Amino acid sequence: MKPVDFDYHAPRTVSGALALLARYGREAQVLAGGQSLVQLMNMRSRQPAHVIDVNGLNELASVDKKDGELHLGSLVRQATLERSPLVAESCPLLAETVSYIGSPQVRNRGTVGGSLAYASPNAEIPTAAVALDAEIILSSQRGQRAVAAADFFVEPFTTVIEPDELLTEVRLPLPDERTGWSFREVSRRVNDLPIAAAAAVLRLSDDLTIRSLRLALAGVGSTPLRCLQAERDLVGAAVPDDGFTVAAKRAVVELDPPSDMHAPGEYRKALAEVLTVHTLREATERARRHGESADGPARVDDGANTDR
Ligand SMILES: Cc1cc2nc3c(=O)[nH]c(=O)nc-3n(C[C@H](O)[C@H](O)[C@H](O)COP(=O)(O)OP(=O)(O)OC[C@H]3O[C@@H](n4cnc5c(N)ncnc54)[C@H](O)[C@@H]3O)c2cc1C
Repeated sequence: MKPVDFDYHAPRTVSGALALLARYGREAQVLAGGQSLVQLMNMRSRQPAHVIDVNGLNELASVDKKDGELHLGSLVRQATLERSPLVAESCPLLAETVSYIGSPQVRNRGTVGGSLAYASPNAEIPTAAVALDAEIILSSQRGQRAVAAADFFVEPFTTVIEPDELLTEVRLPLPDERTGWSFREVSRRVNDLPIAAAAAVLRLSDDLTIRSLRLALAGVGSTPLRCLQAERDLVGAAVPDDGFTVAAKRAVVELDPPSDMHAPGEYRKALAEVLTVHTLREATERARRHGESADGPARVDDGANTDR
């Protein structure tokens, strides 16, 4: 099938894009990498009367370290996140996470903003954004607002973005010393969205107790989920002798994932539990090494993510 007729707009500035969004609102769709939108339009699941192509907005394509944060323009390609030395140094979790998305061709076009705005409940970048405590910047002619990633996703394929708003930037806190990270997923095939995934960012104190933790799961709910219970159980405590098996069980006990053609709900839940154990162990190990390294985050390639 081909899309229904639409008017194509290619603004040259962000203010031009915001003017178009203010004018056309619900009738418009923003075109970023097109890796999801073009398929939806071809299948006529989405029939926008206006397509606003933001690919000419170079001001949204930068990666910067600013004010103790990593700032990513929404148009930064997923492949850039994978290859950027600045991202590898400042946010290694994101660099690793992105390598799981689709194929190199998908990552060459797909953008960080597009993945967040599309809000697939299984997608990698939204899950990492929740674990990383990312702040998502939404701009419109009415002004700008910052939304925490944990508050950004409403239900599958729905976010808090208003029809006149453009996702313009993602801000990520830089890792402190003794911070470790991990992302793991299981998918049916290498290029597929995960059946379930887990992401963890864990900071150790000098006495090696857990100082802070953010744990997020994908594929087990209608949005990426932050595991507050497991975080509460573990923060302030020593790294458990059981290798996080009890914490992982408690992290998933309340979950009731839906069954679908890809996997039964119980299987998703079991996967989430196992992936939680692995991410917490790996994040702890990396936090220990990061604390020992004077040169910044330890770059670890231990072949641990063998399901890729
Ligand atoms: C074969 C294939 C395999 C894939 N595998 C995976 C995978 O394993 N994991 C995964 O996470 N994804 C996967 N994807 C999806 C891919 O990551 C997309 O890049 C992503 O979902 C959308 O990003 P995009 O930049 O292409 O956005 P688009 O497709 O251009 O847009 C997606 C939606 O977001 C909106 N939007 C885009 N940018 C903005 C913005 N700045 N402000 C407001 N709204 C905006 C659009 O209007 C549209 O509704 C796959 C895609 C394909 C084709």
